[in-house]
Amino acid sequence: MVMASCTSSCTAFTLLLISTVFSGAQNPPQKPQPAPSPSWATVPQASAAEQQNFPPLLLQQLSAIKAAALNDDYAYRELAHLTENIGPRLSGSPQAHAATEYVAEELRKLGLAVRLQPVTVPHWVRGVETAELVEYPGTVPGTTQKIVLTALFGSSSTPPDGLTAEVVTVNTFEELAALGRDKVAGKIVLFNELFDKQKAAAGYAFAAYGEAVRYRGAGAKAAADLGAVAALVRSVGNADYRLPHTGFSYPGGIPAGAVAAEDADLIVHLAAEGKVRMHLTLTPQKLPDETGYNVIGDLKGSEHPQQIVVVSGHLDSWDLGTGAIDDGAGVVMAMQTAEVLQRLHLRPARTLRVIAWMDEETGGAGSKAYTAEYSADFTQHVAAIESDAGAAHPLGFEVKINPAALEALHPVQTVLQSVGATVFENAPYPPGADIAAMSDAGVPAFGIKQDGRTYFNYHHSAADTLDKVVPGELRENAAAMAVMAYALTNMKEPLPR
Ligand SMILES: [Zn+2]
Repeated sequence: MVMASCTSSCTAFTLLLISTVFSGAQNPPQKPQPAPSPSWATVPQASAAEQQNFPPLLLQQLSAIKAAALNDDYAYRELAHLTENIGPRLSGSPQAHAATEYVAEELRKLGLAVRLQPVTVPHWVRGVETAELVEYPGTVPGTTQKIVLTALFGSSSTPPDGLTAEVVTVNTFEELAALGRDKVAGKIVLFNELFDKQKAAAGYAFAAYGEAVRYRGAGAKAAADLGAVAALVRSVGNADYRLPHTGFSYPGGIPAGAVAAEDADLIVHLAAEGKVRMHLTLTPQKLPDETGYNVIGDLKGSEHPQQIVVVSGHLDSWDLGTGAIDDGAGVVMAMQTAEVLQRLHLRPARTLRVIAWMDEETGGAGSKAYTAEYSADFTQHVAAIESDAGAAHPLGFEVKINPAALEALHPVQTVLQSVGATVFENAPYPPGADIAAMSDAGVPAFGIKQDGRTYFNYHHSAADTLDKVVPGELRENAAAMAVMAYALTNMKEPLPR
């Protein structure tokens, strides 16, 4: 209700109501109203509701949490261990297991009650991945053109010594359908959807990704349905350094790979001149499923232990790089939320739950297992935060919450102003893959919104390594997550749903 939260402007509002009620009957003379001041010309004042929800002590604690996170490299040291000492953490791999044990032990050291929730995960291993053009207009006899590519998760294997076939190129699914089975069967299909770099540069990197990634996700199946012997996709990435980006591809029962952008251009140019044939070797293997684990660490609430605020990132990564921006960074931000509270001896009123999710990249088994076990408790999950968009300067939060909840978080925006994380944007979709089921069940959901302009330069590639994380920016992110999390555990009333 408007009236519940109005302060000095209440009087004007009440007078306006009274004059409206009487205007029909008596038509009193209207006084000229002063023009309302624009918001930038007024000094912001906390409403009564805000003051009740965020008493001065809580605001002081939030500022102290921010300062403590900004002045410490705990998150960076943890990220260095995960990426450089343990390495890539593909679901089902020995490194994913080691990372699970490591994070669990680190959370125990912080004094959290830790549980490993078992999750059945796929175990896919990369094999040989080479390709060369063996016939094309202008071939110099006795030579080939090397093609830089990488296998996608979901790819079948070629024979050990590869296969050779003609390449057909398309830009869209519609073009593929128009070619029809006659022109696709027995061929290698290359989807050449361009990643829109201007969109990314303008701050819409995830929109650019969403448009291009459909071909990586569904291209192999669509090509296989028309009899193709393999499917390739132009790498879904934002920088052209002849760097292929891997990722999930829905299994089509044929080999599937991502070609570096330069090589996709090369093939398209040559195919426009005449016949292009490729020799392709991709030998990944799908091994038997493994047991992986979500790491779940609780810092028990002092007043409402049954009410839970989740902070999280996903612990599994792709295998080409070391999973620094995707998503070791999210995991260590969540770890630092607990670390800061313990360092400052701040006990959350509601339970803070740190989750390092398993298997976000290769099917989402971790999120599904959590939902299967805890969905009856989602009414007691008062909020869930996930960071899975890198570690660059935080702009704010992408949220999926009630507009009244957005309003209630104004004091948090104020605390976070000095780190820049003030843009709280309601999104039509859940702001994090692992918290999507919670969000869909009505749990207020938050994703940290980082500056994404260069995220897809490295995402899912061999260049997703520790050096891409700027320590000061990681600290800003850790501060943003910790401040938001403690606000959610300690504000008087949980957010309205
Ligand atoms: Zn991720």
